[in-house]
Amino acid sequence: MRVCVIGTGYVGLVTGACLAEIGHSVICVDKNTAKVSLMQSGKSPIFEPGLEEIMQSNMQAGRLQFTTDLAVGIEHGEIVFIAVGTPALPSGESDTRYVEAVARGIGSNLNGGYKVIVNKSTVPIGSGNWVQRMIIDAIAERQQDITGFDVVSNPEFLREGSAVYDTFNPDRIVLGSNSPRAIAMMQKLYAPIIERKFTVDNYLLPPVPMVITDLASAEMIKYAANAFLATKISFINEIANICDRVGADVTHVAKGIGLDSRIGSKFLQAGIGWGGSCFPKDVSALIHTAKDYGYDAQLLKTTVSVNKRQRLLIVEKLQQVLKILKGKTIGFLGLTFKPNTDDLRDAPAGDLLQALNRLGAKVKAYDPVISQVEADVTLVTDPEQLAQGCDALVLITDWQHFHNLDYAKLAKLMTNPVMIDGRNFFNPEDMAKAGFYYVGIGRPTTA
Ligand code: NAD
Repeated sequence: MRVCVIGTGYVGLVTGACLAEIGHSVICVDKNTAKVSLMQSGKSPIFEPGLEEIMQSNMQAGRLQFTTDLAVGIEHGEIVFIAVGTPALPSGESDTRYVEAVARGIGSNLNGGYKVIVNKSTVPIGSGNWVQRMIIDAIAERQQDITGFDVVSNPEFLREGSAVYDTFNPDRIVLGSNSPRAIAMMQKLYAPIIERKFTVDNYLLPPVPMVITDLASAEMIKYAANAFLATKISFINEIANICDRVGADVTHVAKGIGLDSRIGSKFLQAGIGWGGSCFPKDVSALIHTAKDYGYDAQLLKTTVSVNKRQRLLIVEKLQQVLKILKGKTIGFLGLTFKPNTDDLRDAPAGDLLQALNRLGAKVKAYDPVISQVEADVTLVTDPEQLAQGCDALVLITDWQHFHNLDYAKLAKLMTNPVMIDGRNFFNPEDMAKAGFYYVGIGRPTTA
């Protein structure tokens, strides 16, 4: 099928490249000319495992192109994806101006036969109808005879860091629309994925479950999923903070409750809180939507406030060990909100960094994929440079290969061999053997 994807961020570029990989002819459109030139040369503007490889092979096969020309993309696509950003406004509301600009652009350029307009951006509930209205209005201004279009909500659940894998192996595909014709086209588009043609060892797996529903329910599914996951993390962090006080070990508690199939073990890792480009803005947007409809979303508000407090817990732990932080040097192992991504949006490290700077501490950081940041932090290029002269290291991001560093050597390079483990990533005994005074989250300290 012929596909157009508007917006080539983490979602749009991965969607475009993966749809090309399963055999469709895809044109990706972005207004950022530098980004488009980079992608036209076969380079990915983001760090995402496996992405550049499928970009290049599909460009060579003639199935994937990039342009800044919206008209070219819309002319090409029988299915047109909107995948632009929906960041949070200072009020917590979702900023839908990019979606609005694209919807108007689609209406101004729509031509030819029937098209399906797919909203993949996470948008406030009711946006599907609003997008439809804007397209109709833009068409009316041109007084042209358009064969027709329908709007589908197809929320995205990929995780940064495993976005390509997730696109080929989704837990479910959600389609919201009141048009059976549009839904049928979407099912045809996703058929190779639904039938697990791109799943390794697919022979035992049933087809990918589909949830076919109305626009508003599809939009709500995305918000409810992220709000639930964020709440699950805030829940275990709350339990961890109680564990810290009573002397229990939250990693054992999480195992003990996670084995209950009603609870499940995922998203029960206590740490420095959730972040990234989705959870914070999506939970805030849902709280805002609830308020607009006269409902005070108390549980979700608490999910957010527990998380805000959790991000600064490391400061308390550093103060308990080092007492005065003014003039001390703290080293961050990792900066991003999770491993395998270079996305720094709303990472917990940002709040922590600001708090430490305010208290007069100097912060150094080593991150395997970040080479520049707009913050008051000294970036170094290897873990030994990081440890040199530090009063404490803080594990911020649980990159698997951080397990393989020579911690005995790092401890010797430090002024004070203190390890604050923001992800309960290390074995406390191993850290103690390496010479560290080890502090985790909700688990006993070892020296
Ligand atoms: P992003 O900020 O990484 O990328 C958005 C892209 O859209 C940018 O390249 C930008 O230049 C482009 N753009 C903006 N306006 C445009 C226009 N008028 N025409 C063409 N291009 C335009 O965003 P993202 O992280 O990919 O997120 C996109 C949407 O998907 C958001 O609504 C987000 O909430 C949702 N989402 C994101 C993730 C994730 O992990 N990042 C996961 C699920 C859902």
